[in-house]
Amino acid sequence: MNDEIVIAQALNGQIRIHAARTTKMCDDARTAHHCMPTSAAALGRVMTCTAIMASDLKNEEERITAVINGGGPAGTIIVQAYGNGDVRGFIGDPNLYMVREDGHLAVGAAVGNKGTLTVTRDMGLKEPFRGVTELRTGEIGDDFTYYFAISEQTPSVVGVGVLVAPEGHVRAAGGLIYQLMPNASEEAIEYCENIAATQKPVSELIDSGLDLRDIIRTYFPDAEIQASKDVRFHCRCSRKTVRGALAVLKKADLEEMIRDGKGAELHCQYCNTFYSFTTDELKEILEEQNEDR
Ligand SMILES: [Zn+2]
Repeated sequence: MNDEIVIAQALNGQIRIHAARTTKMCDDARTAHHCMPTSAAALGRVMTCTAIMASDLKNEEERITAVINGGGPAGTIIVQAYGNGDVRGFIGDPNLYMVREDGHLAVGAAVGNKGTLTVTRDMGLKEPFRGVTELRTGEIGDDFTYYFAISEQTPSVVGVGVLVAPEGHVRAAGGLIYQLMPNASEEAIEYCENIAATQKPVSELIDSGLDLRDIIRTYFPDAEIQASKDVRFHCRCSRKTVRGALAVLKKADLEEMIRDGKGAELHCQYCNTFYSFTTDELKEILEEQNEDR
């Protein structure tokens, strides 16, 4: 089954629902960054929440960036998700394998809870909107719940999970977020609380092979499906964009790199790709600069 996000509403529009299957996206990120299980789970959870937020963007080029740093060994996690479903991101330390006493991956301890979640919405030409909230537990789902409540005044239940197989790959990943709309009644609030208390972990639901629409209807039988969107781990960097970054370096810096004779190696943090440029290529870039000026 492909990765996708399904958007629905229930109880006559009082509840808005997003269900996401992100197994391949999370596993592709794990592969790109050579993540150990706890790092893979932490990065995958942030990617899943950010992808869900981006699924509401109207324009394909609009973007949501989430930055989390909780002071734990994971370091900083940065994820960018675009309106067209492209998601990329990285984690400070990809080598974490921390397990809780109950056997689950210790995402909260890896991320830490002394820091912030910053969400930036880039809507093309308009001024970007930025919201910052304190982290609650570093478990990511709780932290996004708090973000929605404080920064967007939207009461939400956020379930997000990444199941990592003993062999190290991501076996199932996804998210289920339901949010109360401003017109929600007391009954709707109670309905959501009941589901939140009894619902199975979302990664288990995904792992059981259920379709996202069926997952939604299990909890919200009257749900109306409104839209669906594909998502994938995909970085927008290319040799051309990286060359463009070299081309705007100061002339003196380029000349120094050329004198060094070692060429240049640039790294894209989002997808862990290295781009090498030979001294001859650097000379070419310098010549182009001279022609332009
Ligand atoms: Zn990249």
